[in-house]
Amino acid sequence: MSGLYRDEGVVLRTIKLGEADRIVTFLTLGHGKVRAVAKGIRKTTSKFGARLEPTSRVALQCYRGRELDVVTQVETLEANRVLREDYSLLTHAVPMLEAVDQVAQEREPNPALYRMLTGALRTLGERRATLVTPAFFWKLLSLEGFHPVLDGCARCEDADEELVAFDLEEGGVLCRACARGGGRPISESALTLMRLMLHGGLNSALAEPSGGAGHEVEQLGIRALEHHMERRLRSAALL
Ligand SMILES: [Zn+2]
Repeated sequence: MSGLYRDEGVVLRTIKLGEADRIVTFLTLGHGKVRAVAKGIRKTTSKFGARLEPTSRVALQCYRGRELDVVTQVETLEANRVLREDYSLLTHAVPMLEAVDQVAQEREPNPALYRMLTGALRTLGERRATLVTPAFFWKLLSLEGFHPVLDGCARCEDADEELVAFDLEEGGVLCRACARGGGRPISESALTLMRLMLHGGLNSALAEPSGGAGHEVEQLGIRALEHHMERRLRSAALL
């Protein structure tokens, strides 16, 4: 299984290794999550330059190693520089990268996840619509098989009652009577926004001002992801 291979990937994160190297984690199109050493990347003369920064999409060539691969060539496909230069965009991009890092499996291709991530980063940069991030969280959960119940009470299945809370254990919204037993309050506008995001109305959802309802959907998405991953999404603390 050794040898050279080519693929394209998004840089999820990088960590220092020794004096001059970095370990770069990619989500690749054809090989799933890949961790590879970029040798000499921290030297000013590095052939990789600034091409391996989180959010960058690159064409890469790697040498397959036993544990870590070694990056041998990199070419920028989408620098996504605006995402690193604008703090508010960066704080909305990094939690998506962290969530993908948690969910993606090493060497298991997941083209749907790859397309979702590259699309979300592009939209975030082009439209500066920070609602991309909560929409991404909910779509990621959906891709993982978690489809929240939004059109009726998740506990008693009553569709006529007013829906006032969201319960992570039940996996959906609760009516007022059932909400007495738990769940987090959810406003009607946040619920409307979530329905738009998850049921094909993403473009209209992104046009919404990123105010109260957007923040609510974002925080709820973070909690739902953390519940699903059974760990904290550290970078989401900035949202
Ligand atoms: Zn109910």
